[in-house]
Amino acid sequence: MRGRPAPEVVILGGGLTGISAAVHSTRPWVLLERNSRLGGHARTDERDGYWFDKTGHWLHLRDPYTKALMAELLGDELVRVDRKARVFSNGALTRYPFQANLYGLPPAVIEECLLGFIEAWQKGDTRPPANFEEFCLQRFGAGISRHFMIPYNHKLWGVHPREITAEWCSRFVPVPRLPEVVAGAVGSSPPEMGYNVSFLYPRTGGIETMTRALTTRMRTDIGEARLSTPVDSIDVEARRVFAGGEEIPYRAVVATIPLPELFRRIRALPPEIEAAAGRLRCTPVRYLNVATRNPVPADFHWIYVPEEKYPFYRVGIYSNALPAMAPQGRGSLYVELSDRGPRPSGVALDTLRHDVAAGLAASGAIASADDVLFADLHELEYAYVVFDDHYYAATAQLRAWLEAHDIFPRGRYGSWTYNAMEDCILAGREVIGTLDDRISQHAA
Ligand SMILES: Cc1cc2nc3c(=O)[nH]c(=O)nc-3n(C[C@H](O)[C@H](O)[C@H](O)COP(=O)(O)OP(=O)(O)OC[C@H]3O[C@@H](n4cnc5c(N)ncnc54)[C@H](O)[C@@H]3O)c2cc1C
Repeated sequence: MRGRPAPEVVILGGGLTGISAAVHSTRPWVLLERNSRLGGHARTDERDGYWFDKTGHWLHLRDPYTKALMAELLGDELVRVDRKARVFSNGALTRYPFQANLYGLPPAVIEECLLGFIEAWQKGDTRPPANFEEFCLQRFGAGISRHFMIPYNHKLWGVHPREITAEWCSRFVPVPRLPEVVAGAVGSSPPEMGYNVSFLYPRTGGIETMTRALTTRMRTDIGEARLSTPVDSIDVEARRVFAGGEEIPYRAVVATIPLPELFRRIRALPPEIEAAAGRLRCTPVRYLNVATRNPVPADFHWIYVPEEKYPFYRVGIYSNALPAMAPQGRGSLYVELSDRGPRPSGVALDTLRHDVAAGLAASGAIASADDVLFADLHELEYAYVVFDDHYYAATAQLRAWLEAHDIFPRGRYGSWTYNAMEDCILAGREVIGTLDDRISQHAA
């Protein structure tokens, strides 16, 4: 194959997980990516000097390996930014997380949230919560749940928190102690808390600068990335992937494309596997890339917006993190929308843009609604995997079946999980070790 050894490992999808697998592969590989550019969700688009990720992609590193790798690849090009995250609720901007920073809200709301927290704390209910709604009521009480946890998470996940299991949230939802909640209610809490109080971001070019740097490490001596090459189908008995009119034999597959897409492409699936794959749920995210004519008055990097009267649940300002993300004296923002109905167009899209501009002005993210130069609508088909009651049994069954056929699902949508860019880079390294062991066992 074009002077390279025939591939042993076929990598499906060229997002960060697939790229990382190609970086770490010790065996001949081929990567198949349907888009004309590598990077998946970790890409950045430019329009008229404004730069936009596929909504804010802030890099958080905790593993020594990825820290060293990024330092080598990007050095000073990667800037550390101290996070300024806020919550916009009841007309006030408060610090994040809401539950530990009630100061600034109307007094009646603070009272309701504090009393609810104290009541929950006195109850001390330690039974495993049946779902995410119960988790919120148990840990935060009725007021914080009503004003933030339930409406925000409903807007974010696109399903009510009672449909989501509680297991996933322990890593991601900070639970403050009573003294911290009281300190936050009277305005004496530390400035930022929770995990991730700072983040890294490329000085120029958005998150794709990081992605591109990683691609320079792909082992092109033993493999190649084929762009604009969607995977058509997979025959697990014949151990062949079909793509771009070719038939590619494999010893192992690293599958990073969304799990339901993978199963749709596997020929002759057993009925019980097809049924389990049918139980996987995921919500899309629609968002606006917004450019302003003037500087943004706000100093925050992003805000959480729980109230239903606003059509968005999170807004971020790229140009507040790195000024090069917009022309001088202007701003570039992302606005993540809560509506998952039919994609708006015509009058409906005009109305949406109007409501978003008014909401942005109300939150102080932009100076006035007239300040919006353009607001382009985009969509991520796969954004948030839903951790419902079927989740654990279905994913365990599907993963076992795939690995029995030497197909290793990895990454956010391959593993069908909630994770971040660093996890994907690490998963690409881990899977190469795992499949090397498997191939050696077969050979022994
Ligand atoms: C709204 C949102 C915000 C986020 N913000 C952050 C953040 O701030 N910080 C952070 O660390 N992480 C963030 N993440 C998570 C981060 O985007 C992911 O963890 C990571 O980018 C996933 O990489 P991946 O390679 O596993 O999947 P993907 O990036 O989805 O890559 C999969 C690839 O497969 C390709 N593909 C699909 N179907 C086919 C096919 N049939 N044939 C060939 N190729 C195919 C796709 O084109 C894509 O390139 C965010 C995610 C979302 C949804």
